[in-house]
Amino acid sequence: MHESCGVFGVYAPGEDVARLTFFALFALQHRGQESAGIATTDGKKLLVYARMGLVSQVFSEDSLGQLKGSIAIGHNRYSTRGSSRVSNAQPLLVGKGSNTIAIAHNGNIINAEHLYQELSDQGYNFHTGADTEVIANLILSSPEKDWVNKIRYAMHRLQGAYSLTLMTNNSLFGVRDPFGVRPLCLGTVNGGRVIASESCALDHIGASFIREIEPGEIVSISENGIDSYREEGGRRALCIFEYIYFARPDSVINGRLLYPARQAMGEGLAQEHAVDADMVMGVPDSAIAAGIGYSRWSNISLCEGLLKNRYVGRTFIEPDQRIRDLGVKLKFNPLPQMLDGQRVVVVDDSIVRGTTTPSVVKLLKRAGAREIHMRICAPPIRYPCFFGVDMATRWELIAAQKTIPEIRDFIGADSLGYLSIDGLVKAVALPKDIFCMACFTGDYPIPVQLEMGKLALETAMSADYQGPFGIKQR
Ligand code: SF4
Repeated sequence: MHESCGVFGVYAPGEDVARLTFFALFALQHRGQESAGIATTDGKKLLVYARMGLVSQVFSEDSLGQLKGSIAIGHNRYSTRGSSRVSNAQPLLVGKGSNTIAIAHNGNIINAEHLYQELSDQGYNFHTGADTEVIANLILSSPEKDWVNKIRYAMHRLQGAYSLTLMTNNSLFGVRDPFGVRPLCLGTVNGGRVIASESCALDHIGASFIREIEPGEIVSISENGIDSYREEGGRRALCIFEYIYFARPDSVINGRLLYPARQAMGEGLAQEHAVDADMVMGVPDSAIAAGIGYSRWSNISLCEGLLKNRYVGRTFIEPDQRIRDLGVKLKFNPLPQMLDGQRVVVVDDSIVRGTTTPSVVKLLKRAGAREIHMRICAPPIRYPCFFGVDMATRWELIAAQKTIPEIRDFIGADSLGYLSIDGLVKAVALPKDIFCMACFTGDYPIPVQLEMGKLALETAMSADYQGPFGIKQR
């Protein structure tokens, strides 16, 4: 499962803003590894440098040195809309002359196609396949005079998830959709201001956290200081997967550090799904903290059974078929001496399609584990996401197609336990109604998603599509 990008922005006259952005993007690399980019402005013109690859592969001293200015925005991309190619790499520069903006987007616009058609009919040109360009052109198409009201105009038309950093020749903006689906926070560095997807990016560049940017809020930063405008929203819908998996465990969202929240998920699993076992392990890296929590509550000793090849990441070098066939072996190496004859509780963050978990179970059993008891932090995922998480169609989601005992057999585990929705909410320790949990419940925050869900279902039905598990419909 992949999330769709990390964004950053800095307003700091006198600072090397491109370098600050580079190091912030490093800290946000987990949010997207396909492309990286930085845009800067010296007050007269906007410059951008964006390429395919990891932050460390994209930038050099030379490219950073050319990005001069006092304002910068940056972006790490995982594509959920628009293919993975360099023209879709962000930040995007959109517009002409003084009416140009640079924009970086985390999220997914649900009504992008409709808006694209409307803007094309008005004569707006599109050069990428990204919904981010729709946002930018919608802002530019506004009849309003100032940038804040232009952004507000766009916000009234956009449906979906968007946490944005946006820049003109002399101002930086941070924008968060009224549902607050993706996180966005505000900080300060050496008298300047920074905006980031996650607070971990602030820590790494020596910036201090000020506060979250609220759902529906526009923060505007310029030589006149900092201003805030708020579009009143209704329901909030922060993606619960930020706590389970997407965000880094050293980030703070809504005042809750993610690391103890993930430990509490493991404790909740131990309470809800106790089992006799010899050792507990979390699948690295995302379930390590939850594994510790399970061990702590159950008093079963914590061990490492799998080591992760952390640097395999994304690379431009395509694996050949023989390497591809190795599957999870390329990513994980088991420790047979630790696993031999053991009854192992394996804690993982989620099961989506169910394609990876059987390989992990097989790897551990081949390495000598006697029993594998899978414990999963996310409740069963039965509905697709329309908010920008590259998950699967409903027909590919294993929990939409199989019962829990059937999934247990499919993955080859001796037992399987998912954390309940109540257990998850208790672990996060925040009010349930601020979250989107639509992929567990089907309760989508906006009606259009419900329609998309129905449409996807009808399409699958009419095409007589049987899905990857060979089951027509439950
Ligand atoms: S549907 Fe699931 S993955 Fe998508 S935003 Fe909601 S909680 Fe997150």
